[in-house]
Amino acid sequence: MPEGDTVYLAAKRLDNLLAGRRIDASEMRLPALATVDLAGLDVRQVRPYGKHLLFQLSNETTLHTHFRMDGSWHIYREGQRWTGGPMHSVRIVLRSGIHVAVGYRLHDVRLVATSQESDIIGHLGPDILDDNWSKDTARTNVRNQGSRAIGDVLVDQRVVAGIGNIYRCEALFLARITPSTPVSDLPDEQLDSVIDIARELMMRNRDRSSQATTGDERRAHFVYGRARQRCLRCHERIHTQAGTGGQMRPNEQTIFWCPGCQG
Ligand SMILES: [Zn+2]
Repeated sequence: MPEGDTVYLAAKRLDNLLAGRRIDASEMRLPALATVDLAGLDVRQVRPYGKHLLFQLSNETTLHTHFRMDGSWHIYREGQRWTGGPMHSVRIVLRSGIHVAVGYRLHDVRLVATSQESDIIGHLGPDILDDNWSKDTARTNVRNQGSRAIGDVLVDQRVVAGIGNIYRCEALFLARITPSTPVSDLPDEQLDSVIDIARELMMRNRDRSSQATTGDERRAHFVYGRARQRCLRCHERIHTQAGTGGQMRPNEQTIFWCPGCQG
């Protein structure tokens, strides 16, 4: 499940490739957009917002894509073999100069007026990876969730945009908070701490493909994905519980946590 840092890095690579350049040819392999031709348009900017990607084009429209569980963008040189998946999973092809950007398994593909981007992202909370993000707004949004479990709130994209299951689990572990704790039971310092930690972990990884939170690629995570294994800190066994949350499949909603460290 791509998290905000994956989307951020994809946007950065696509922006490096396409910003200020012309689309020479495009293919939209989606029934609703099959007749759309973007050839001849310049790309102004490719930017992320939470888990959303926005391609701003010179005709004042924005192409929106979302990865959901399994989407990805790959960049190739002309003539290079495409390796991102079977051909039937290709949704968008954008050719520019000697490069081609290929979008696989993309979801929620839409073209909107750039002035109407808020129709797509306006309901989202502040983007945790934005350099100018508003922590005050994030804190207020989280606090307003009242008795909802903090574990569910952190991945609710309307509250804070960008956090997925890995960073939810790891930030709660490092902040020593039980995932089922109602937000209303958390003192301000703990609430601040889990938001700060989630952002710090994600900022550390946003310019690279690693999602390690431990600083050690061989043991990349403290609790995420480690059901029934021993906690790296206290040697209790890692527990799992069902969580809810943002666009994840049920088995990807599983919250991993340590009863010893987060009791
Ligand atoms: Zn522990």
